Amino acid sequence: MLRPGEEGDKRFEVTNVLDAIERHLTTEAALAQVVVDLGEIAWFEALDGGRSVNLLRTGIMVDALGRHFGEDAVRLYPVAGRDLLTDADLTSKERMVLGRWASDGLIEVVPQAGDRALDVADLTGLALGTCRDLHGAEQRYPWLRGERLLRLVPGEGGAQIHGGHPGPAQPSSAGAGLLGQLWRCQRRDCPLFGERRGVSPAVPHLRAGVPSCPRHGEPLGNAGPKAPSVTLALAVDGVVRERFVLHAGRPTMVGRAPDHPAGIVIGHFMSGEDLQMISRTHLRFELRDEVVLVSDVSTNGTVVRSRPSAYGPAEEIHLAGGPPYPLKPWDTVEPHDRVVLGRADRMPTGYGGASGSVMGDAPTISLGPPM
Ligand SMILES: [Zn+2]
Repeated sequence: MLRPGEEGDKRFEVTNVLDAIERHLTTEAALAQVVVDLGEIAWFEALDGGRSVNLLRTGIMVDALGRHFGEDAVRLYPVAGRDLLTDADLTSKERMVLGRWASDGLIEVVPQAGDRALDVADLTGLALGTCRDLHGAEQRYPWLRGERLLRLVPGEGGAQIHGGHPGPAQPSSAGAGLLGQLWRCQRRDCPLFGERRGVSPAVPHLRAGVPSCPRHGEPLGNAGPKAPSVTLALAVDGVVRERFVLHAGRPTMVGRAPDHPAGIVIGHFMSGEDLQMISRTHLRFELRDEVVLVSDVSTNGTVVRSRPSAYGPAEEIHLAGGPPYPLKPWDTVEPHDRVVLGRADRMPTGYGGASGSVMGDAPTISLGPPM
């Protein structure tokens, strides 16, 4: 028998978990770390012994990858076949959320998933997160023998990732060519290559050598070279909490709660007096001529730790207003001694440790029978 309010709480819980999962999804290669086939995960009954399909299993993958990498900001590039979106055993809530993710371009919906996740990982150089046995695929994708294969394995005390610790993504030669150009779908409302995607479309599908829209199958138009970009990361208390892509000509504001809609909000990860030391808008990052410039626009100033290499001694530079400061690749920026920003692929070693969970305190409730 349900206790009063229990059913409502359960719905609330599921909504919260799906919202938390959503923050880890992207179809922008520069932001993603791991490519996954969403159906593979949602249909992986052995993970929890529950329903035949369950979208919340994506959260188990996100949490396991977070523990594996020791960070909170893991971003998945999810591919989903149409058969997942039309699975009759999804709850109406899951179907609605999947539809929203598809129309917002947070997942790449393709007529048939097939090997598309492998292809995206192959082109982009990203890792592949899988639950599948991929024996035989190493012929076509030799990198599966290396650090980039991350297998989700059920286990006592939670699912685990078996696999390596992939370095920064190195696109294949075909991928580098594709990702260096801006592609547009013939359908202007395309969630992957339409006008709304601006400077950050998804990964084209090479169809018989022709760059095509993975969703619509039609050849993509080439809108010229893509503007340079750099992926930055924000760490609080030694754990990466957020990644963001800095595009040339599009400055990004970082602070306690910047006014700019694309601003990076440190207030999500800190509170109290420490947070008050950080100005509402504290820093302005800009990419110019492939150099990241940082400007301090705060009340209390900012420290830049400048390093010649990963292990070199750091020189401390104090910024208090003044002209934009050009960052070298290993430099980090500290608006507060608990907060570090730097290039995502070059955050100093020693980061990691405790990370949060998208599943909340009640994963068992979340994975219970359908509602
Ligand atoms: Zn399209």
